[in-house]
Amino acid sequence: MKKKSSRLEWKVAEKLSDLPKKDAKLLALATSSLENAYAPYSKFHVGAAILLENGKMLGGSNQENAAYPMCLCAERVALSAAASQYPKMLIKTMAITVKAPNQIVQQPAMPCGSCRQALCEMEFQQKKDIKLVIRGEEGVIYIFKSAKDILPFSFDATFL
Ligand SMILES: [Zn+2]
Repeated sequence: MKKKSSRLEWKVAEKLSDLPKKDAKLLALATSSLENAYAPYSKFHVGAAILLENGKMLGGSNQENAAYPMCLCAERVALSAAASQYPKMLIKTMAITVKAPNQIVQQPAMPCGSCRQALCEMEFQQKKDIKLVIRGEEGVIYIFKSAKDILPFSFDATFL
């Protein structure tokens, strides 16, 4: 039997001022989008922001529901906003941040599995990587060059 392995690389910015200006601006939009979260149940606010190829930025926030499975993550809200308002416009970057009710999240809060899959679908659709800029409420910022990096062995339309 063969043994295989893979290696993941990402960048870590120690503080906001270490980020390129565009990424810092996008993360600031993700942070202000937190305020629009509807999270009466978890009280966990997530903000996401998208930079399109035309320079436009769009924000999204998590939207909960008393029927829990209907809850929408900020990342997918932002993706849907971009896809519906700017169809076929390339998504270059997504920034993500969070605010928890009982702690200051000090590490990057990674997207859930469903959002990783949705991001990979968008990359597949646009045939271009989406850079991810991810932070907790404070602390270091992770930068991944592609959503595929955080969803290895992903399922896509090539299987259908
Ligand atoms: Zn999610």
